[in-house]
Amino acid sequence: MTTRRVAFLDLGEQHASLHDALGAAFERVMASHQFVLGKEVERLEAELAIYTELRQSRHAVGCGSGTDALMLALRAHDVAPGDEVLVPAFSFFATAGAPALLGARPIFADIDPATFHLDVEDAVKRAGGAKRLRAIIPVHLYGAPLAPAIAEQLAAACGVPILEDAAQALGARAASGHAVGGAGTSAAVTCFSFYPTKNLGAAGEAGLVTCHDDQLAERLRRLRNHGAERDGRHLEVGWNARLDALQAALLRVKLPYLERWNTARRENARDYSARLRAAGAMEAGLPPEAGSLPITLPAPDVAPAQGIAHQFVVRVPGTQRDPLRAHLAAHGVDTAVYYPLGLHLQPCFNDLGYRPGDLPETERATREVLSLPVHPSLEAADREHVVDCIVRFFGGRRS
Ligand SMILES: *Cc1c(COP(=O)(O)O)cnc(C)c1O
Repeated sequence: MTTRRVAFLDLGEQHASLHDALGAAFERVMASHQFVLGKEVERLEAELAIYTELRQSRHAVGCGSGTDALMLALRAHDVAPGDEVLVPAFSFFATAGAPALLGARPIFADIDPATFHLDVEDAVKRAGGAKRLRAIIPVHLYGAPLAPAIAEQLAAACGVPILEDAAQALGARAASGHAVGGAGTSAAVTCFSFYPTKNLGAAGEAGLVTCHDDQLAERLRRLRNHGAERDGRHLEVGWNARLDALQAALLRVKLPYLERWNTARRENARDYSARLRAAGAMEAGLPPEAGSLPITLPAPDVAPAQGIAHQFVVRVPGTQRDPLRAHLAAHGVDTAVYYPLGLHLQPCFNDLGYRPGDLPETERATREVLSLPVHPSLEAADREHVVDCIVRFFGGRRS
């Protein structure tokens, strides 16, 4: 069969189409001599507050990265050494790394196999066994919005603030209709990342925290700048979590296109699902049928919830996942595995005492997940090629 190069992420078209505007933003910041915080950052914060539908009583605070956003959120909730923070074991490392860096102990909970989101029942059970639980960090993984009931149930059952990790979900809408991180969120804060591979990517590092509370927002702003008050006094120790003006200016150029890019990703995801379903793939949460394509589709968004397809993730039986990846690579298709190891089994968390088998759904996911290219510049012929390769790998015929 023919080989067609399908990159996992292709920023070339995005950057070419915005070349002049990005250049102008760069020149503007260079001419301003203001490289850290300042007007560009304030304008980006205001534009993101509008984008996430924050009302006047809510705040958007730019910071150095998604990791900084999580650490600021934790510190602003007084998470200190010896405290405990509950996180899903299936996420990017920073979800657990941020509390650990502050000296807190991550408590790992398992995931719901259909959504890859925190399993509320398991989370509540493990939270019940904690002695110094201070916060819970659910993750809007792969750009799929968490059901609002998850945050509400967790908050009600555990009595600690919910700090959302929405690093992969800027622009997603929950079933309640509200934008993730916007008005109507029951979480205390929502953390975003503009790492270059996210749906809205900077040309370097950048992040954001949104929240309702005026005092909390002020504390976040202080903490990101070494804890400095306006008069130069430091009542607490913060660190340098400031956002660069250059990143803010470039993000401001890209922000107006984010809806378009998210829509293109969603269309790609829908098209993949339709093609794979036609070839016999299985729906999330249903038992496998004999004779069908041994691929499980991602759970569809529940109306009117809307994800942003940050990743398009299928499940492949564990023994076939890596051979399928190699087959796809041999035919020019780049794929990725997010994430290959449960956070509870990372060597740096050995001393927390988790063992293989402790979080079975997380561990099964690490063996089965495969991310297909879903970036906005993907063409129909790319998707067709990817699905063709998958069908042929399993010895089927295209329907
Ligand atoms: C990217 C990401 C982060 C960290 O963001 P950085 O900007 O890379 O520090 C945190 N959590 C999740 C789920 C992420 O995907």
